Amino acid sequence: MDRCPHFPACGGCQLQGVPYAQQLSGKQRHIEALLGGFAPVAPILGMKDPRHYRNKVHAVFALDQQRHIVTGTYRFGSHAVVPVDACGINDELCDAIILTIRRLVQSFHLPVYDESRRSGWLRHVLLRRGFATGQVMVVLVAVSPHFRGQNDFIRELRRLHGEISTVVLNINDRFGPVVLGKTSKVLYGSGYIEDTLCSLRFRISPSSFYQVNPVQTEKLYRTAIEFAALTGRETVLDAYCGIGTIGLIASTKAKQVIGVELNGEAVKDAIANAKLNGIKNAWFTAGDAGEAMVHMAREGQRPDVVLMDPPRAGSDETFLRALLKAAPKAVVYVSCCAETLARDLKTLTAGGYRVRQVQPVDMFPFTEHVETVCLLTHTG
Ligand code: SAH
Repeated sequence: MDRCPHFPACGGCQLQGVPYAQQLSGKQRHIEALLGGFAPVAPILGMKDPRHYRNKVHAVFALDQQRHIVTGTYRFGSHAVVPVDACGINDELCDAIILTIRRLVQSFHLPVYDESRRSGWLRHVLLRRGFATGQVMVVLVAVSPHFRGQNDFIRELRRLHGEISTVVLNINDRFGPVVLGKTSKVLYGSGYIEDTLCSLRFRISPSSFYQVNPVQTEKLYRTAIEFAALTGRETVLDAYCGIGTIGLIASTKAKQVIGVELNGEAVKDAIANAKLNGIKNAWFTAGDAGEAMVHMAREGQRPDVVLMDPPRAGSDETFLRALLKAAPKAVVYVSCCAETLARDLKTLTAGGYRVRQVQPVDMFPFTEHVETVCLLTHTG
């Protein structure tokens, strides 16, 4: 990849200029240093072509000093906007659509939000593309639901990019860096896109989590399910399940799957995804994963296998304590932050588990982030 002109101001990629093989060996060493004490670390699974892997692209709208409309990203650790027209890790179609949207915003005279004056209307655009289906979701984030010229704007955008299958207007009138507000209005299409992973079809709504690198996600999920070594007799808990991806993929090899997820919109997607794939042995509930574990134990339900995929902060005491009490025969821990993973593995190994396998997966080339899957089994 040519050296990016936005490095280092953008802050998205920390490993710009580092050859890919070297990025992989650096990540391998990092995981070995943090987790090698628990079990041998398998060689990291890298990408054949590490460019343009991101299926989700965000841009903030701003005005430059000449009050021209720019789109880009927040300068690392600040509110200043670094204009970015093309990014080496973003999906190229998404980047092209953002440029079109910017042009249309200009020609439709739509007021761009000015953070310093707290005036204007349009703040962000968020795009997601299903790499397998080609469907594109456009989420425009603005301070009010009043969209001047809405129908003409969408008609023109769709004429230029027929791949766009849905357009959503999200309302965010709060000051601060959080992109999405609480309310959304579907302006065109169904309000979600679909994608395919490991032969299943998934619907994804704007605020639901979906892995950003689908090529590597398939490797990640296959590893996780292989580690679980399901026989068809197990009750599987998919904790922090998002739209149900891992659990639904595992469901064909399990007796039943129970998924827990905090984000209500993602849970709705998960339930719809079970239906979409004709899966009848998977149930999903909204709530905190730890509290759900405690509740399951009270009801006398004991999972045989726990698949867990918490956010960067890792799991918490309530969950880990309930997990040790439930004592499933296998725990498959999927983590996007090796530091919190190491912390949680310490608790689990002190509580009677042994780490059997550690597999790093490079989900985020050019950044310093690494995904890791671990298999733990009970020593008793
Ligand atoms: N396994 C899914 C999602 C992983 S991301 C996938 O691979 O796509 C982590 C998920 O945990 C997010 O969907 C987030 O909303 C959810 N989450 C965060 N805190 C949680 C909690 N305390 N209890 C349950 N889910 C939580």
